[in-house]
Amino acid sequence: MNRTYLIKPVLDYDYPTAVYGEGIYLYDHTGKQYIDGSSGAVTASIGHRVKEVVEAMIAQANQVSFTYRSQFTNEPAEKLAKKLSEWAPGDLNWSFFVNSGSEATETAMKIAIQYWQERGYGRKNKVLSRWMSYHGITLGALSMSGHVLRRKRFIPLLEDFPSASPPYCYRCPFNSTYPGCNLMCAKELETAIKRIGAENIAAFIAEPIIGASGGAVTPPDGYYQEIKAICERNEILFIADEVMTGIGRTGKRFAVEHWGVVPDLIALGKGMSAGYTPIAATLVSDRVMEPILRGSKAIMAGHTYSANPQSAAVSLAVLEYIEKHRLVEAAAEQGQYLMEKLQQLANMFEMVGDVRGKGLLLGMEFVADRLLKTPFHPETDVTNRIVARAFEKGLLVYPAAGGIDGAGDAVLIAPPLVIQKAEIDRLVSILEDTIREVESELRSEGWTGQLFAG
Ligand code: PMP
Repeated sequence: MNRTYLIKPVLDYDYPTAVYGEGIYLYDHTGKQYIDGSSGAVTASIGHRVKEVVEAMIAQANQVSFTYRSQFTNEPAEKLAKKLSEWAPGDLNWSFFVNSGSEATETAMKIAIQYWQERGYGRKNKVLSRWMSYHGITLGALSMSGHVLRRKRFIPLLEDFPSASPPYCYRCPFNSTYPGCNLMCAKELETAIKRIGAENIAAFIAEPIIGASGGAVTPPDGYYQEIKAICERNEILFIADEVMTGIGRTGKRFAVEHWGVVPDLIALGKGMSAGYTPIAATLVSDRVMEPILRGSKAIMAGHTYSANPQSAAVSLAVLEYIEKHRLVEAAAEQGQYLMEKLQQLANMFEMVGDVRGKGLLLGMEFVADRLLKTPFHPETDVTNRIVARAFEKGLLVYPAAGGIDGAGDAVLIAPPLVIQKAEIDRLVSILEDTIREVESELRSEGWTGQLFAG
């Protein structure tokens, strides 16, 4: 390995260098082609090297690349905020721009707390969340995240713990089944609110579809309607973390639309700029802005790069591209096709326990015993084996292991929204070869159903 000073995710691993991208493909320094089957980290939603975005980037750089938000507003940021208010459901008309999903969820938390302060309820400052969730890597966002593996090292520093179970129907935390369960997982939120006291709680945050910590775990019909009703009844705000699910990924502009609910705040990131520049946002409803506009007239958050004109111009070009090419509709249609193909794989391979998700945010969970849904022992490292074997074969999928308690194996399959059916066929065929190889490797190590179960 050449001498390196870059701190990479795994320090002793020799990563290939990405040098070129085109549509759904990435190419490394040896010229090897990869299908970007996870859009990076579910980000590169319109594919790589899109001419219109590159042109918007250059045009803005020729105007002005940086202005500071305490001194100026700028045209791209104004236009982007207007466009997002047209895209967003209900009265989510306001945008606060930041640089990453972690900052977007933290800003949502801060705005929720500020909202109650402005109304004279200073004690309402806790944010509830669910286990099996991911809201970001900074300490505030990680405090809200129920991602056992990512929390582990920082436990004493994290302020609070998630307080509700995930809507994980495949392996129900209450050992029940929908619809007989009567949405116990949603109702548990109300029990938690009673225990902690609504007078101490500012908001509840949830990913509409669980991404990084479970692999497209999708709640049943009625779940978010119930959550919203509980939040309203107890006077706490509902924050939807749409960093992964937003901007068309699930076949709707925002995933909460699948349940027909309008949150009080939405955190956005990833697909907002499709990875071309770092930009994220917290969308705020008129209702939440109202006491702030009357009160301190400023949001107590923000960064040097907040509302950066260069990033805003790029995000605007991405949203226009999605509109022009009807990519939200494409995500729904191609997602349906990909889902059918993945279900065929589930019928072929014993280790595939579940296939789930919406639009082009799909997940596949692997199990040691399909009947009992027993996870593989964590040391079997099934998720990483699938990811690494697919990588070798030129397919990128995203590891989403971790389940409720740190065990469980899953990957996300979330290609760019521009993917075509023939490309889906190729993606699925590589995935099929990958699973076949890993399955036979596990069998050669003695896997016979329950033997490797944790
Ligand atoms: N929320 C969700 C739902 C995410 O999936 C992620 C990133 N995986 C984040 C927040 C954090 O975003 P970022 O990595 O841009 O800080």
